[in-house]
Amino acid sequence: MFLTIGTTGTPERPATDLGFLLHKHPGKAQAFSTSYGTAHVLYPEADAERCTAALLLEVDAVALVRRGRGKGRGGAPDAALAQYVNDRPYAASSLLAVALSNVFSSAMRGVCNALPERAEQPLPLRIEVPALPARGGPDLVRRLFEPLGWTVTAEPVALDAEFPEWGDSRYVRLVLESEALPLAPALRHLYVLLPVLDDAKHYWVSSDEVDKLLRAGEGWLPDHPEQKLITSRYLSRRWSLTRQAMQRLELVRLAEADDSEVEEIDNAVEAETGTDEKPTPLAVQRRDAIIAALKESGAARVLDLGCGQGQLVQALLKDARFTEIVGVDVSMRALTIASRRLKLDRMGERQASRVTLVQGSLAYTDSRLKGYDAAVLSEVVEHLDLPRLPALEFAVFGSARPRTVLVTTPNVEYNVCWETLPAGHARHGDHRFEWTREEFRAWAGTVAERFGYEAEFRPVGPQDPELGPPTQMAVFTMKTMETMKTTNEHNEKEVTAA
Ligand code: SAH
Repeated sequence: MFLTIGTTGTPERPATDLGFLLHKHPGKAQAFSTSYGTAHVLYPEADAERCTAALLLEVDAVALVRRGRGKGRGGAPDAALAQYVNDRPYAASSLLAVALSNVFSSAMRGVCNALPERAEQPLPLRIEVPALPARGGPDLVRRLFEPLGWTVTAEPVALDAEFPEWGDSRYVRLVLESEALPLAPALRHLYVLLPVLDDAKHYWVSSDEVDKLLRAGEGWLPDHPEQKLITSRYLSRRWSLTRQAMQRLELVRLAEADDSEVEEIDNAVEAETGTDEKPTPLAVQRRDAIIAALKESGAARVLDLGCGQGQLVQALLKDARFTEIVGVDVSMRALTIASRRLKLDRMGERQASRVTLVQGSLAYTDSRLKGYDAAVLSEVVEHLDLPRLPALEFAVFGSARPRTVLVTTPNVEYNVCWETLPAGHARHGDHRFEWTREEFRAWAGTVAERFGYEAEFRPVGPQDPELGPPTQMAVFTMKTMETMKTTNEHNEKEVTAA
């Protein structure tokens, strides 16, 4: 596994300064032992004009397998290692990233006592990784590095140079060039993105990986357009860690957000819900339908579960019949934007006593949510992975148990009617699924049955005669003794009739 880091210089600023920045003398070849083998640092060229440092990792496959045995899940050697032993020692991967951080740890932190100001300044950089395993191919390589200010060359490596007809391997030759970056962030980009592209970590991912990711991602990851993919792959797709990291990244972004963002978000929501819907955007029609159903139910104390940025909470506050409104969301960022929108800090005492925003996950039961008249899940269920949905069902219908529950979700059949949606695409990047009317009814029916509710369905938005409405809503009403009796009698009659 091999990569080179090169720079160019002038007589006043010799390229060999790179040696100071990396804390490795250009005149020496040095070897360092790491957990996975020996890392060598040497300089194929080093003069005032051009200086290139090479990092070569000689992987000790035996040590690696032993390590895998000690640390892997359940102590068993990782089956993926079989493949590893074949090609890994020769290709840059997560191990090279680990070596990078071992060997250049001060440089990665931007520490340079010899040339402190040089460490902070951009310098011309050329980084080459001759064989980089890249799941997602050259296209993903570009999507990851270009937003960070790199000029990217990513060429697929042929499986076998003598037999071009065999096609490309999953490796690319990567060259990154930039004049805009200091060395430290450049190294941190590699430290995070090499394993992301490799997408197969060779060591056990533990919770301190989240800290490592956030530290290495400082200054660039919070705003990276592929932040989610980076986070999830870096953490080996471990859901709980990824969520934790995403939340902490949100907090970072939040510190930089300002009120104009609330407006931006509103505009984006409107755009997403289809500007051709004017004069009434679908989001507004949905809110109106929800409020109408809440009024019908006679609810006064209402939960908005997955309240997002607080638009519904704001609308409910305008109607005095809603005496208590609780917005719940897992995202601190959403809640902070909600609280800005509602101007909670400037609200009169009486008004403020009607509204609470709480952070919580709907996948867990929460005693704070008990005892309310109604709960709204507006465009929320589709944000949960299907296997997590039963946990939400239990938390809402089994534990919180309000008398009325309103659930809205997109009707996937309608998607072909959205001009802006490419066929077969969900409406929102984070939707884990979207249901047809039949699927939604089946789900709602089962939930109602299991938890003692009755479900009734309402269309929201302009109906297509064949495909139905863009949004579907289920109104769940808890069965009372009275309704249970009638249902039982009805069932008995049916039984007798049969
Ligand atoms: N109800 C709002 C927002 C819908 S977007 C509206 O109708 O406009 C979905 C919201 O659900 C997001 O704010 C997201 O943070 C939240 N969410 C997703 N999974 C959640 C969970 N497990 N617990 C709580 N909130 C969740």
